Amino acid sequence: MKYENFSAKKLQICVFFCNFAPKMENLYRQLYNWYAQNHRVLPWRETDDPYAIWLSEIILQQTRVAQGLEYYTRFIARWPHVEDLAAADEAEVLREWQGLGYYSRARNLHKAAQMIVEKAWSPFPTRFEDIRALPGVGDYTAGAIASFAYNMPYPAMDGNVYRVVARLLDIDEPFDTSAGKKLFHHKIEAFLDRENPRLFNSAIMEFGALYCTPILGDACLTCPLQSTCLAYAHGTAGLLPVRKPRPKVRDRWFSYHIYTDGEHTLIRRREEKDIWYHLYEFPCQEEQTEDNYPFTHVLSHQKLHARFIVHRAQKMPEIPGTICIRWEELNDFALSRLTLRALDTLRLTPHS
Ligand code: SF4
Repeated sequence: MKYENFSAKKLQICVFFCNFAPKMENLYRQLYNWYAQNHRVLPWRETDDPYAIWLSEIILQQTRVAQGLEYYTRFIARWPHVEDLAAADEAEVLREWQGLGYYSRARNLHKAAQMIVEKAWSPFPTRFEDIRALPGVGDYTAGAIASFAYNMPYPAMDGNVYRVVARLLDIDEPFDTSAGKKLFHHKIEAFLDRENPRLFNSAIMEFGALYCTPILGDACLTCPLQSTCLAYAHGTAGLLPVRKPRPKVRDRWFSYHIYTDGEHTLIRRREEKDIWYHLYEFPCQEEQTEDNYPFTHVLSHQKLHARFIVHRAQKMPEIPGTICIRWEELNDFALSRLTLRALDTLRLTPHS
């Protein structure tokens, strides 16, 4: 064995695990006690229905819990079973999703529901490999569904769990590279409570979401896991977890043209494989100009600058690729959050 590549940090983590093994029960007990007293009561944590858990997990990706709860409640009321969702039109699903952003999640949700019905996996697949094969389901979501619904021993590594693991083990490798993910996955495998994976995953996620948060303040001083936390011992908690450098954000400029005769307006469906695929919008030109654009909208790797120009006309123009609708029908179409914001700000309504 070559010892020269075996860094002091790795050695500390190994020693941690060796010494830690007998204390594992202790860590679980402290974590579960904390969870019992502090966890939020959320409908998808009170059920073992895999369909409901899957729905909540997809909705909650990149969404705050309060906002996600609203959408989850609406989705589950409208499509209570996977067959109902599979039978819906994609446009209806996008319309219900409106405002949540990252619309590929909604399209994948719909495709996955259809796949479940086609493959006769209803009410939901029970094998981890089949869950992982659903469109829009990655390692985290598959682990969350398998453990929360079936109590299967798979980790569910969301951003909160990465943070807690990075701090407990004082890991300063970026967690969002493929090598980092592999390393963290390996570590959590050693951590996972195989007797109670559902409880373990719920507790560690909630602990990261509510207690071991990005900004720590003086939380470490009274932390129930303090005695087993390497980052606390080394004074590095505030520096962890480490991310890879962010890619450069791309700026784009959109000019939207809102035509109105007081009763009607023109909209088009976005068909390009680009942001907001299959959502509706006013006729739009993308321009390479840095003129003054009053609206900005930030997506993960893009910063959009937009302006909305209102054209009042006696007779609606004919613009290829657009449809002419009555203003009150606009509510029936899925629109991006940027367009909704502009409509609100410009106070555009029927008879505008
Ligand atoms: S001691 Fe601090 S860094 Fe460590 S687990 Fe507790 S809150 Fe997180």
